[in-house]
Formats: sequence, structure tokens, C-alpha cells
Amino acid sequence: ELSRRLKAVASFIYSGVTFADIGSDHAYLPAYVCERNPLVRAIAGEVNEGPFQSAKGHIDKQQLNEQVSVRKGNGLAVLEQDEAELVTIAGMGGKLIRTILEEGKEKLGKVERIVAQPNVDAQVVRNWFLHNGYELTEETILEEDGHIYEVLVGDRTSDPEKPYGEEREKDLFFGPFLRQEKTAPFILKWQGEANKLQFVLSQMERAKNPDEDKVREFETQLSWIKEEIA
Ligand code: SAM
Repeated sequence: ELSRRLKAVASFIYSGVTFADIGSDHAYLPAYVCERNPLVRAIAGEVNEGPFQSAKGHIDKQQLNEQVSVRKGNGLAVLEQDEAELVTIAGMGGKLIRTILEEGKEKLGKVERIVAQPNVDAQVVRNWFLHNGYELTEETILEEDGHIYEVLVGDRTSDPEKPYGEEREKDLFFGPFLRQEKTAPFILKWQGEANKLQFVLSQMERAKNPDEDKVREFETQLSWIKEEIA
């Protein structure tokens, strides 16, 4: 059974599309989507040999070779020009997701939608969308096995500012949709982040030469969080 986390990613993949799943590991996501919809095609990209072999094995076993092409390579480099219309990148940090998108920009020509599931630093992905012509159109947050996951959807647009209001910095930090909905996993996530920040700040206060800029940044974030989930 596919994880609820990857099912949430799958829910944003539409029929008829060719999508690239970058960092696919076992290629569970492309297999799940393509098994259920014969009109979807996928490229499973993996940079590491072990996961690449796992992906090939799984796609062979599920007899999905007609629909899913498994390729070894770094990020979007596994794609031909204009090959994919949608990209999924799940289960990595937001900064690595940003690097993969940034380094692979020339492969995004026909990419209408990017579905990202950053394990941490989701704001880095929102910022990348904002500055690269993708409108954040949907966000989900969910809890599974004691972890909290966010899924972000970016759609190509001429108005990437659209989801952001007067409190743009806070919207980017918390997610404009997630902070409106304020679901239970959202509250849980930010309680946890507040605790971490409080701990880090107490350590910094004890340090001999604390980085004053960092202290201020963390204090600001902590006050935002307290306000947000008060
Ligand atoms: N996407 C799957 C998921 O969400 O369950 C697997 C996540 S796994 C934690 C991250 C995978 O990304 C690893 O298999 C790793 O080898 C791969 N990876 C990391 N950097 C990559 C890159 N630059 N290009 C392609 N794959 C990468």
C-alpha cells in the first residue's frame, strides 16, 4: 500500500500527463499512478545506483515498462527537452528541491505543474515558485507515522504573486492556504517548530559570541509562530 504522503502527491497528477518523478527511489509513485491510469506516462529519475536498481526492479515486476521509463542521472538531466509536462519531487529537503529545479531550469519548458513534498524548508520551495513563474495553487499538510508532511503544487502562470496577501513573508513561511485552514497537523507542526526554536535560542543565549542576526531571525520566527497558533 502506498503511503498517504505519496497518495497526496499522486492526487495532483492529472490524466493524460507525462510526468517526471525525480528522486524516485523504488518508483512507487510512478507505479501507483500508471497502474491506475493507462493514459499517464512517467519517467522515474534516480541519481544513486541502489535506488535506481530498486526502481527498475519494481517497474519490471509490475510490468509497467511501456508506461514508465526508469533513468539514472542527476535531477532533471534525465529528461529530454520538452519531454515532461509535470514534475514531482518528494521526500527531500526544500533546499535540495530548489537546487534540482534551479539546475534543471532548461528542462522546465513544457512543465505546467510542479508537485513538491519538502520534508523541511517548504518556504524555500514557495519562494522558488514565486520567483520562477509558478503560482502556488494548492497545499496539503498531513500526519503519517508521527511525521508531518507538506505537499505544494505550483502551476505555471503569469501572476505568481496571486496567493500572497499583505503578510507575504508570513504566507511564504507558513503557506498561504495552510495558515488559513489551520488544520490539526498544521498546529502540531508549528508547536514542534516553536519548541525547536526555543531550544536553539536558549543555547545561543548561552554561547560566548552568538550570531546576533540569527538570534533576531529566530526570535522573529518564534513570535510569528506563537501568534499564528495562539
Ligand atoms: N521520492 C521518494 C519518496 O518520496 O518516497 C524517495 C525519497 S528518498 C528520501 C530521496 C531520493 O532522492 C533518494 O533515492 C536519492 O537517491 C534521490 N536523490 C537525491 N538527490 C537527487 C538528485 N539530485 N537527482 C535524482 N535523485 C536524487
